[in-house]
Amino acid sequence: MENCIFCKIVRGEIPARKAYEDDRVLAFHDIHPQRPTHLLVIPKKHIDSLAQATPEDEAVLGRMLAVSQQLARDNGSPDGFRCIINTGRVGGQEVAHLHMHIVGGPDPVGPMLKKI
Ligand code: 5GP
Ligand code: ZN
Repeated sequence: MENCIFCKIVRGEIPARKAYEDDRVLAFHDIHPQRPTHLLVIPKKHIDSLAQATPEDEAVLGRMLAVSQQLARDNGSPDGFRCIINTGRVGGQEVAHLHMHIVGGPDPVGPMLKKI
């Protein structure tokens, strides 16, 4: 995906503070952190969102979850963390490359959703 910003990060065309990388996934610090720990974990392969994931993507989706505990521990959130995958318009997704937020820090991240 030529113009996708997260694909550009995967290709090294725009910089990111990388926290982890393997053959399937890349993790880097969010540019506008909302908590002391705020990482993004993405598949290296472009997938628009969780709504477009297919059974073939099961392995990479599993890897994204599997690396989260170590990433949180190594980046200031040893006592727990929260994973968030915003999906599509209703989910409030802004970047159209599937990504999982890992948020945390020394203090609780707070209620799961804003009360409406
Ligand atoms: P979404 O709302 O789509 O779930 O979250 C997109 C996230 O990507 C936001 O938290 C935003 O700060 C982050 N983000 C957007 N552009 C960049 C970028 O170029 N670099 C990094 N590191 N994070 C970005
Ligand atoms: Zn992409």
